[in-house]
Amino acid sequence: MIAPPPGLTGTTILDLPPDEASATLAEWVQAQGLPSYRAGQIHRRLWAAPIATWDDATDLPLALRSALADAFPLPRLAADTVQQSSDGTRKYLWRLADGEAIESVLIPSGSRRTLCISSQAGCALRCAFCATGRMGYRRNLSPFEIAGQVREIVLENPEDRPTNIVFMGMGEPLLNWEAVSPALTILNSPDGLGIGARHITVSTVGILPGMAGFAKRPEQFRLAISLHATTSAQRLGIMPIEKKYNLEAVLKAAEAFRRRVTFEYVMIGGVNDSDADADRLAGHARRLGALVNILPLHPGGAPELTPTGAPRIRAFAERLRNQGVEATVRRSRGLDIDAACGQLRVEVERRRVREHEGATEPLSP
Ligand code: SAH
Repeated sequence: MIAPPPGLTGTTILDLPPDEASATLAEWVQAQGLPSYRAGQIHRRLWAAPIATWDDATDLPLALRSALADAFPLPRLAADTVQQSSDGTRKYLWRLADGEAIESVLIPSGSRRTLCISSQAGCALRCAFCATGRMGYRRNLSPFEIAGQVREIVLENPEDRPTNIVFMGMGEPLLNWEAVSPALTILNSPDGLGIGARHITVSTVGILPGMAGFAKRPEQFRLAISLHATTSAQRLGIMPIEKKYNLEAVLKAAEAFRRRVTFEYVMIGGVNDSDADADRLAGHARRLGALVNILPLHPGGAPELTPTGAPRIRAFAERLRNQGVEATVRRSRGLDIDAACGQLRVEVERRRVREHEGATEPLSP
């Protein structure tokens, strides 16, 4: 059983993987003296065809709806702020029951809708370029708080149902494996949100125990590794986690994963964007058969670091490709709404401070 986060009273049925929720409901339905088919009808309302409150389950008798409201309260994530970018990217700041805030970013692209979700409130890793790292660690999210980010989007508009999920919001998912693992089951299960495993990516700096747990999952979930450096010394300069799990150990663990991984590589001017870096990165990628995803540095995360210019990024990617490495450059999305890791929460808190101080300037769009 997962301990409830501070401020919450206990686990909810939305924390349970679908088979456990089914068993709980079957037992309850039987104890109520109801026909057994009711359990399946009720279960659909958790994730597959979700409802905001049991009142909305109009396919169920009124008395049953009210009994369900008592037995299985359905918690929500409260949308504190929603920002829409001119490119269609939408960023949500969710307020949790204990007042913590987390964010998700919905990125439409053709028929694909990728939702970037958070796994922790804040983050302990303090990577030099990341806005979430700046605020420090607050707490782990529960399975409901993780998968619930998707549920809220579906509740708001079923047509926005995400087709792809990436754990690239706030937090380090593999430092919260206890909740991320059941959340993955909820996201993927046909009785849950039904999102294909190959459309769900867990992104990590390379937490070795978490990687071992993730590797044991039989589903074809995808793994992305935030490499960001090509030598241990260079990585230590921007990612303190290098002290605990070093580059070589992370590469070895990724090798043991036996599925194709993606390296994420944020380009920082004068830090990790030389030709020698490209050559070393190509070596690491070829060793693992990894795909390289180059991320332009989002400046909001680190005012003191310089983003690598577009021509240099193109040359770097080309140099990888010339060595037989598949490399993509991620298009920056939602730049006008600061849709990078941790930035909305930082901005909203700044605004609150300003309001507190009597200033009235609105949140810049
Ligand atoms: N903790 C996990 C997942 C969250 S971050 C991880 O580190 O992988 C998701 C991705 O966004 C990571 O690759 C992270 O390094 C990257 N990122 C963070 N801040 C960024 C910024 N300012 N610009 C570009 N990418 C950034």
